[in-house]
Amino acid sequence: MHVEVRGLNKHFGDFHAVKDVNFGITKGHLIGLLGPSGGGKTSILRMLAGLETPDSGEIVFHGRTVNNLPPQEREIGFVFQNYALFKHMTVYENIAFGLKVKKANKHTIQNRVAELVELTGLKGFEKRYPHQLSGGQRQRVAFARALAPEPQLLLLDEPFAAIDAKIRQELRSWLRELIERVGITSIFVTHDQDEAIEVADEIMIINQGRLEQKGTPWDIYKEPKTPFVATFIGESTLIESAAELKGFHNTGGKPTKALIRPEYIEVGHLNEFKMASATEQGIVKHLHFRGSEWLVEVEVNGHKLVTYRSLEKETLTPGQEIAVLVHRAYLFNDERSWIQENG
Ligand code: ATP
Repeated sequence: MHVEVRGLNKHFGDFHAVKDVNFGITKGHLIGLLGPSGGGKTSILRMLAGLETPDSGEIVFHGRTVNNLPPQEREIGFVFQNYALFKHMTVYENIAFGLKVKKANKHTIQNRVAELVELTGLKGFEKRYPHQLSGGQRQRVAFARALAPEPQLLLLDEPFAAIDAKIRQELRSWLRELIERVGITSIFVTHDQDEAIEVADEIMIINQGRLEQKGTPWDIYKEPKTPFVATFIGESTLIESAAELKGFHNTGGKPTKALIRPEYIEVGHLNEFKMASATEQGIVKHLHFRGSEWLVEVEVNGHKLVTYRSLEKETLTPGQEIAVLVHRAYLFNDERSWIQENG
């Protein structure tokens, strides 16, 4: 493991902000720390950086415990949302800054800056000052500056939060490619689940100071381990009593809730649907055209379920009776959670 964190805890006064967090990160992976505001993401990142001291726990980079090292000795690059560029320095000088601090010779600096300017698509902008750049270009300079001293780990705190939606989208794929080319282990904080799913090799879901789940975006989406993760990632409908759906009645005695994702619901005309034992009869309530597909709201036993249907298949009308089969649901009660497949 390139980065290992064991038993990490942090209090601010009486408030327990980070609760016994453990994880390991493989070299070269890009990890997204995802979760609601106030969950503890930034606190974890700041402890990794050495900007905050843990109450307990160990932080290990490449086999070396770094708890007692100051930030500048941890070989870390930062890109923070508000980690502004030096305004009075040109793009070249900003990128060269970390190398000058490390007392690299002039030749090395020139070569390394040229390399990074190329890598971050900033060729021709070397003599400009930050105020002569767009938000996206400024953020690319911030990446080049962070990478210049060849850090072992890159920490990014909401790096695109201040950038408008269109450019943000471009920067995401740009970042993905950049990290792959450089091969640097990176951790970024975001509260935007689309951003995390699209960019990260693995996601860590942080909620109320705890690491709820760590895994690939697909694993977390498909096999959520806690009700929080199941509701936080992806769209779903919550059914208060799973027993009211056919196929989900044998749920072990305890009152059980069900979360159902749209793509695990199949709907069809009553006369052409293969009627499995778990097939329900429902009513089409609403149809919303979404450009490439229809969003279909159906009512089953008084519960509203939402699913999608492709354009070509669309021959449904509101009020129509319809067959509904829920293939898969995430079930949970106050004791445990599990995934149940149907038909
Ligand atoms: P956001 O997405 O809003 O940045 P976050 O998940 O990064 O949230 P943190 O910034 O780590 O969360 O904060 C976790 C909790 O710790 C919050 O309740 C915050 O108010 C509290 N906290 C963070 N830093 C301090 C501090 N220096 N002093 C007191 N409380 C703090």
